[in-house]
Amino acid sequence: MARVVVVGGGLGGLAVALRLAKQGEQVTLVERAPTLGGALRPVEADGWSWDGAVTWTMLPAVVRDLVHKTGRPLERELDLQPVPVLREHRFVDDTRLLLPGGSRQGQRRAFEALGAGLGDQWLAHTDAYAPVWETLRRGYLEPWETTGTGPSQEALALLGSRETLRRRLRGSLRDDRLADVAAHPLVVDGHAPRDVPAWAGVTSWLEQCFGGWRFTGGTARLLDLLVDRLALRRVGVHTGTDVLDVVVRSGRVAGVATTAGVLDADVVVCAVDPRRLPTLAPLVRATVPALPPALTHVGLHDPPPLDHELVLHGDPLVVVRPSGPGAWTVLGRGRGASDPLADLARAGLDVRDQVAVRVDRSPRALVEEWGGSPLGVLWQGRGTVRHRIGPRTPVPGLYAAGAHAVPGPGVPFVGMSAALVVHAVLADLGRPVEP
Ligand SMILES: Cc1cc2nc3c(=O)[nH]c(=O)nc-3n(C[C@H](O)[C@H](O)[C@H](O)COP(=O)(O)OP(=O)(O)OC[C@H]3O[C@@H](n4cnc5c(N)ncnc54)[C@H](O)[C@@H]3O)c2cc1C
Repeated sequence: MARVVVVGGGLGGLAVALRLAKQGEQVTLVERAPTLGGALRPVEADGWSWDGAVTWTMLPAVVRDLVHKTGRPLERELDLQPVPVLREHRFVDDTRLLLPGGSRQGQRRAFEALGAGLGDQWLAHTDAYAPVWETLRRGYLEPWETTGTGPSQEALALLGSRETLRRRLRGSLRDDRLADVAAHPLVVDGHAPRDVPAWAGVTSWLEQCFGGWRFTGGTARLLDLLVDRLALRRVGVHTGTDVLDVVVRSGRVAGVATTAGVLDADVVVCAVDPRRLPTLAPLVRATVPALPPALTHVGLHDPPPLDHELVLHGDPLVVVRPSGPGAWTVLGRGRGASDPLADLARAGLDVRDQVAVRVDRSPRALVEEWGGSPLGVLWQGRGTVRHRIGPRTPVPGLYAAGAHAVPGPGVPFVGMSAALVVHAVLADLGRPVEP
């Protein structure tokens, strides 16, 4: 039995800890905050509750796989509901689009309603991503299926391609509104399409194919389930404990130094921003984190009806995400995104007189609260993939999972990064690969 220490109790760390413990390893999870969850943690104030960051997920199979492989099947534990409207996009010219998830024809109809011929234009754009996803999934995100361990040649060629998302969108979408919809998942996370490789636009195809899914009762339900399983799988948990660095002896990992002393380990998994650990920081010098947007959580009395996500395009970009009736989170990104409620009012949705409770969280406060950015690494061109670390690192016995170790953040990619690390750890320990 190997002694494993997992650094960081967000989704990435929880997933790695549970999966390795289920495989019989002796796992300890170390989290600096007083409670686990990172960006899965809800926000609560005056009897109101909001999803702290994660509101819905694509690719429910990743969550299903994690839940099933660490205990009972998902269906017995959690209720995942499809999100009928992924987002309502309101464009600068005052036109609107209700974007359904998980339906090719539904999306075609929605874009046709925006303009004749736009439905087919959108489908031609998204269809081009079907082979991209297969290459990424089989050759990079789940490479054990095809190559045994590392990325396939086909995946490496794709990751090295020079085409940017901006160029792809200019070539395939002749209407700016369609380009705004296609770029939105990246722009809202702080990336500039000119710095993002074209293949990262695969999100549009994933949303169309697999839809969006919410956890009934909020994202906190997923967190509660994972935390309950830590005891079931006998994972040792240290909360309120900051990992200061990795301990390396004779060229391989030997443990972690924490604010509560040294923990010895045969395997260490870093599921936090590697910049926080001095041994890893020089290895990721060429990367910068993608910073979170400003968040304002409001509880409204007599709220206008809103049961789907609302995106107000422009600068600043404003997004409203309802967690429940009248419980809205307003995200602001861009120039002057200092008062999201004023920005909302300018866009014709003035709820400032209906605010019963308000919680503001600046990007700086969020990074402090989460101990780094849950959005991972900022795209700075195709080289960003090479400049990150994970699943293995140059230090034997040291692995990297979570948002900073994958090309896209979000529940699916973070969940896949955890699976990738678990496969690498088991292979390196000479164990049978996780079934
Ligand atoms: C505003 C916002 C909205 C989002 N919405 C969605 C969404 O709707 N759907 C979706 O799929 N994704 C969404 N995401 C992305 C998603 O939140 C992340 O990809 C995912 O939660 C990252 O998980 P993680 O474990 O890598 O990181 P985190 O959740 O950041 O967890 C890292 C943990 O490590 C701890 N830590 C940090 N440093 C140390 C240290 N030195 N020692 C010990 N512990 C440490 C932190 O306290 C934290 O608990 C959103 C992100 C943001 C910012």
